[in-house]
Amino acid sequence: MENIFNYIDGQLVKPVSGNYLDNYNPAEGKVYSLIPDSDKKDVENAIDVAKRAFPDWSGLSITERGNILNKVADFIDRDHEKLALAESIDNGKPLKLAKSVDIPRASANMRFYATAIQHFASEAHIPDDQFINYTTRKPVGVAGCISPWNLPLYLFTWKIAPALAAGNTVVAKPSEITPMTAFLFSKLCIEAGMPKGVLNIIHGLGSKTGQAIIEHPDTPLISFTGGTETGKRIAATAAPMFKKLSLELGGKNPNIIFADCDFDQALSTSVMSSFANQGQICLCGSRIFVERTIYDRFVKEFVDKVENLTVGDPLEETTKMGAVVSEPHMEKVLSYIDLAKKEGGKVEIGGNQIKLEGRCAEGYFIAPTVITGLNHACRTNQEEIFGPVVTIMPFDSEEEVVSYANSTAYGLAATIWTENLKKAHRVADKVKSGIIWVNCWLVRDLRTPFGGMKQSGVGREGGWEALRFFTEPKNICINTK
Ligand code: NDP
Repeated sequence: MENIFNYIDGQLVKPVSGNYLDNYNPAEGKVYSLIPDSDKKDVENAIDVAKRAFPDWSGLSITERGNILNKVADFIDRDHEKLALAESIDNGKPLKLAKSVDIPRASANMRFYATAIQHFASEAHIPDDQFINYTTRKPVGVAGCISPWNLPLYLFTWKIAPALAAGNTVVAKPSEITPMTAFLFSKLCIEAGMPKGVLNIIHGLGSKTGQAIIEHPDTPLISFTGGTETGKRIAATAAPMFKKLSLELGGKNPNIIFADCDFDQALSTSVMSSFANQGQICLCGSRIFVERTIYDRFVKEFVDKVENLTVGDPLEETTKMGAVVSEPHMEKVLSYIDLAKKEGGKVEIGGNQIKLEGRCAEGYFIAPTVITGLNHACRTNQEEIFGPVVTIMPFDSEEEVVSYANSTAYGLAATIWTENLKKAHRVADKVKSGIIWVNCWLVRDLRTPFGGMKQSGVGREGGWEALRFFTEPKNICINTK
């Protein structure tokens, strides 16, 4: 059994308490490694060294910092197969998905910010011939970065890359449910010659390790991705300390399909946007609204396609859907399917746990589930399920569907399918989401602002937004006369 270590001051170290937590392989339902059950003491040690490393790291040139990040990216590419396998075993996702999405994106995140920082210039203003204003942007100090389990290395690097590129040092906590690739990443950082104390990775429980990072007076920047309830707790702790906060939270994303869409494209992409990564992507479209004139045809053909989604051993080539991340998460998703039934929903397909044979007999598998017959306002359609469950509902008018789309507390992403350009612009303008895709889904240009409105978050990641978040602006006004 492989033990995971914390990464503090350039070394792999045991937790101070000597205590460990079980790490499960969700496809087998078995413990396969142990992870540090870190506490306040480990966090304090990490923040202490990160503070000491800050002057030297922030004093390096942007090229020197970029070179190190690029070197880590080279090693991610070199170890692509090993990291993808580790991600699939740790998370339950199909190996194919980890190979094609998670790991390539982790290296892309590192490269993107290694080079973006070289183009990030601050502003100068010369309002008249007497005064010159210029704005500097400096790194802030130790950034606390906390990431979730659904896209482990992908979202971990999405935070630490801009934080480090901007010149901050980092204390990061990956989800305790999927710690393995962050651990392997710490070994790559050592190999790449990342200076000691610049990046520190502490494993452990959110309520203990995560909370200690948030509460510490010397983490002036907090970047968090996770659930809305956790986000509320983090904001309640960090706001009175006047920390800079970036919160990427939950979603309940609408997928709006008008009768004038490219039907085949809308259909096949909607299957993917409902069930990719077992529906455990914050951007998945979990509420599908279909214009009534094509509703029956859409439901029938959608269910036919879902029937062909093979749920199986994540390591098999033919597997389209793997295990959900943990037993408690499986129970949560199944309880929402029960709730949907109680609320009057009709399960068109799925609705149950799947028992596989052999190696995966004890794994956490759920059949892709399609539910119809529900009102947009019921709990099933208002609360985030974050699993392979999608609802389909008919609508008659543009106005009506916009009101359904906007009826939840969330506002992360939305998808609109229509061949009518004016309608696409109109609806995109009215839907309250931070990200709108028209006739596509999950197309990610790393330069664009990423994040949600309402209870889906505060602030944006991506492109300049992240570099602005991880730096503090200072305006200097000079009287030239
Ligand atoms: P959680 O909110 O449970 O956890 C996220 C991270 O926060 C984990 O590392 C967790 O540790 C940690 N944490 C938990 N409690 C605290 C605390 N009190 N203080 C500090 N850290 C804490 O989310 P999940 O991991 O379950 O991830 C799923 C959620 O993430 C979904 O709601 C999904 O929508 C959202 N998400 C949002 C995205 C976005 O960009 N908007 C992208 C991806 C996911 P531990 O695991 O040990 O509890």
